[in-house]
Amino acid sequence: MTAENYRLQFPPGSATLAAGLIADMRILVVEDEPDLLRGLAKSLREEGYAVDTSADGEEGLYKAENWDYDAILLDVMLPRLDGWELLRRLRKSKKTPVLLLTARDAARDRVRGLDTGADDYVVKPFDLMELFARLRALIRRTANQSSAVIELGEVAVNTAARTVSLGGEPVTLTAREYALLEYLALHRGSVVSRTELYEHLFDENDESLSNLLDVHVSNLRKKLGHEFIGTRRGQGYVIE
Ligand code: CA
Repeated sequence: MTAENYRLQFPPGSATLAAGLIADMRILVVEDEPDLLRGLAKSLREEGYAVDTSADGEEGLYKAENWDYDAILLDVMLPRLDGWELLRRLRKSKKTPVLLLTARDAARDRVRGLDTGADDYVVKPFDLMELFARLRALIRRTANQSSAVIELGEVAVNTAARTVSLGGEPVTLTAREYALLEYLALHRGSVVSRTELYEHLFDENDESLSNLLDVHVSNLRKKLGHEFIGTRRGQGYVIE
C-alpha cells in the first residue's frame, strides 16, 4: 500500500478551524476499544486534525515508523504488541511525541511510560478538552522534529539518546556542550544569537556566564572540528 493510497482512506478533517494551523497536523491513535477509537478519531477530525487509527500495537508501530506523525495517542494495554513495547521500539528510530492513555490509578504505569519515552499522559476516562489541550502543548513543544538523529556531515546528533558521534565514533560531551550543540543542530542553517542561546540553555539565575558560551563553543570545536560551528560577528553562531 502506498502512502498515496493510504491517505485516501482517511478524510483530512474538517479543516475549518485554527486558520489552517492544525489542518496539516497528522495524528495517529492506537486504541483497541472500538467505541473509544471511533470517538477519538471523530473528535480529533472535528478539531481539524488528520487522523490515522490502529486497533492493535503491531499495526500501530508499523504506521508510527513509516509516517511522520505530529503526535501519537497511545493506549497501554493493546493486543499483539502492548504500548510499552511499541514505544520502546519506536524510540530506536523516532521521537514522535507520544501521549499515553493510561488506566485510572496506575501511577506506576505513568512513571514507566515517561521513563520509556512517552512525552505526557492522560488518565482514562479523560476529558476531551484536557486531551486536546495536552495534545496542542505536546505538538508545540516538539515542533516538527520527528527524526531522532540529526546528520551534520560527519557529525550525528542523536536527540533521543542524547549522544553525539563524529565519523561513527562516539564523542563525549558535557551536558552543557550537548545542549548547545543540540540547539544549534535543531536550528541548522540559521544564525542563532548569543541572547537566544542564553535564554534557551542557561538558568537565568546563573550570573557568571558572560564568557562561558565562548568556552563551550571552543570546546565543541576542539571535539568536532574547528569549522563545525561558524561565528557571525555581532550576530551569533551557526551550523551550516
Ligand atoms: Ca486497551
